[in-house]
Amino acid sequence: MIIRVRTVVTMDGPPIENGAVAISGNRIVDVGKFDEVKTRNAGEIIDLGEQALLPGLINAHCHLDYTCLRGKIPPQKSFADWIRAINAEKAKLLSKDYLASIDKGFAEAKRFGTTTIANLTAYPELISQIRAPIRTWWFGELIDVRSPERASEILDLVRYQTDSLRRAVESLGNAQPQPILSEAEGGAPNWGLAPHALFTASKDLYHRCEEVALRKNLLLTTHLAESCEEMEMFRDASGPLYEFLKSIGRPMEDCGKQTPLELFLGVPDDRVLSNWIVAHLNELTETDFELLERSKRRFHVVHSPRSHDYFGHSRFPFERLRSLGFNICLGTDSLASNESLSLFAEMRTFQRSKPGISRDAILEMVTVNPAIALHQKDVLGRIRPGSRADLISIPWNGSGNVFDEIIAFDGSVDWMLLNRKENRNTSDTAKLSR
Ligand SMILES: [Zn+2]
Repeated sequence: MIIRVRTVVTMDGPPIENGAVAISGNRIVDVGKFDEVKTRNAGEIIDLGEQALLPGLINAHCHLDYTCLRGKIPPQKSFADWIRAINAEKAKLLSKDYLASIDKGFAEAKRFGTTTIANLTAYPELISQIRAPIRTWWFGELIDVRSPERASEILDLVRYQTDSLRRAVESLGNAQPQPILSEAEGGAPNWGLAPHALFTASKDLYHRCEEVALRKNLLLTTHLAESCEEMEMFRDASGPLYEFLKSIGRPMEDCGKQTPLELFLGVPDDRVLSNWIVAHLNELTETDFELLERSKRRFHVVHSPRSHDYFGHSRFPFERLRSLGFNICLGTDSLASNESLSLFAEMRTFQRSKPGISRDAILEMVTVNPAIALHQKDVLGRIRPGSRADLISIPWNGSGNVFDEIIAFDGSVDWMLLNRKENRNTSDTAKLSR
């Protein structure tokens, strides 16, 4: 199959005018000018016309469990109040509500051009009832502040799932599991572990997650240094979050000594440091930055611009983290603190807060960078030979700057290719066969 468009935005060099991509199975085999690609490859030609073709977008941090909480929790006085509010909402939900929530979330993310998602779930046992329509990394979320048994149960479940995945792959004669096969392509779910945050998961739980991740080569994610209340809690042993967690019986001996980052950096084993995808990092002190500069230890970072604004967090230190060499991605976070699962809207909000950042660098934060964070840099996030054919297109008539047009795009994507299937919204796409 050959897809021809006005412009191919490869994220692997400058955009290609009158470009085309040749696809075999679910892989890209060629990309270039239409005339050249046509000469080098045979197959059906699909001409999408006045469109820009780009890699499918990658959401680096989401909780589809809470899609049904959209608009349910107005901004609260404190972060601790928000946790109380979401806990009250969660208490009303049953398994069937979570399943419906995850399905609705998938449909919405896909409609907005997301083809890969890093999704945290508090109910990994429900996942066998769901067939993810987009490429999904399921991170089992672990909390042991109130229920250590539940955290162990989730850890065991993820460990068991990855063991059975490995056994299945080995029985097929492959030495390595192939997480790149999506569930829709017949692959097994990709699992990761998510100790929730330093204030809800013990250091022991973080260590146990790392140990499993090391043995089974799993990705890890967590929430870190999100709110000023988290900083107050760990550095000063005071504030609303400190009081709330103390009141529910959390042991507070780790408070009053270190910043959240200092505490976190005490966890990672260097061998799995690059497996960590850390959400937020809004609250960093000067000594934190000095520590990062000295330590040279780098993990991946996810910023969620609209959720950040909903909470009114401190300014995200994008420029400083980037100059220190962190790989920074964008994510939507959950709809309990956001209004949609559109990564285009995240890019726009990010651009408004950081007008000096180039537009192609912003698009990298939902394509190239999260592919690196998911350890899939050779197969996702770019249009080049060897990559998966996860593609989307949006209208583009060639005037102005194509990256401006992409970031401004507001609506459902016109066309998507995912798992070998085309999904169309347009009626005027010309289809030519030869
Ligand atoms: Zn989150």
